[in-house]
Amino acid sequence: MPKLMSQSLPLGSTYVLESAGGETASGRTQQDLPGDEIYQRIRDSVLRNRIAPGTKLAEVKLCELFGTNRETVRRALIRLASDGLVDYFPKRGAFVASPSEAQVEQVRDARVAIESDISGRIAGRVDQSVLQELSRIATEQIELRQAGDLDAAVALSGSFHVTLAQASGNAFCVKYLVELTALTSLALAKFAVPPESACPIEEHVDITAALRAPDGVQAANLMRAHLERVHNAILQSARRPAPSVDLGSLMRP
Ligand SMILES: [Zn+2]
Repeated sequence: MPKLMSQSLPLGSTYVLESAGGETASGRTQQDLPGDEIYQRIRDSVLRNRIAPGTKLAEVKLCELFGTNRETVRRALIRLASDGLVDYFPKRGAFVASPSEAQVEQVRDARVAIESDISGRIAGRVDQSVLQELSRIATEQIELRQAGDLDAAVALSGSFHVTLAQASGNAFCVKYLVELTALTSLALAKFAVPPESACPIEEHVDITAALRAPDGVQAANLMRAHLERVHNAILQSARRPAPSVDLGSLMRP
C-alpha cells in the first residue's frame, strides 16, 4: 500500500491528533490554543493525510487535546466544513469528508472549467511575483519528493493551484478552488492513489513555463490535461477490483 494511506487512521476510527513533536497528544492538555490555530492544525493533519477520510472528529477529544472549550472546537469544525474538508451533522458530529466517485467526476469537471479558463486568461498578464511563487512551490515539491516525503509534496499541490487561482483576482474562483483542491486531496487518500500519479510535479513546471512564455492556449491545454490525469487516476484506483483473497492459504494451520 502506498505511503499515503499507511500513516492514516482507518476509516471510521476516532480521531487522535499528533502533537507538533510527533508525540500522540491524546490525554495531554495543551495551552489554550486560539480557534485559528486549532482550525489550522486539523486542516494540516487532514491535508497531509494523517487522518483518513470518513474519520469521526470527536469534539470532546478535540477539546481535551487542545485544552479548549466545545464552542471554539465547533467553530473550527464548521469553518473546516465550509472549506469542504469536513462533513458536519448537527446530531452526529463532524467527520473528515469522504468524496464518492461521482463527486470526484464533478470535482474534475469543475476544476477543469475554472482552472483551464484562468490559465488561458492570466498568461501574459500575471505578475512576476506570482510566477516566482508558482516556480518556488514546484521546486519545493520536487525537493520534498527527492527527500522521500511524498505526502508533503502532494499536500503542496493544492497551494500551487490556489496560488494560480488567486492570480485571476476572482474571489469566487479562489473560494471554490480552496474547497475543490481539498476534495481532490481527500479523494487521493481515500482511494490510495500511488503518489507518482497523485502528484505529477513536472506538469506544474510546464504550466508555469507556458504562463511565463506567455502562451495562453498552451497553459489552458496543459492545465486541462493535468487535472484530467490526476482525477482519472483517482477514478481508476477507485474502480480497481479488490485483490482476490486465497482463503485456502489464509486458513492453512
Ligand atoms: Zn497539480
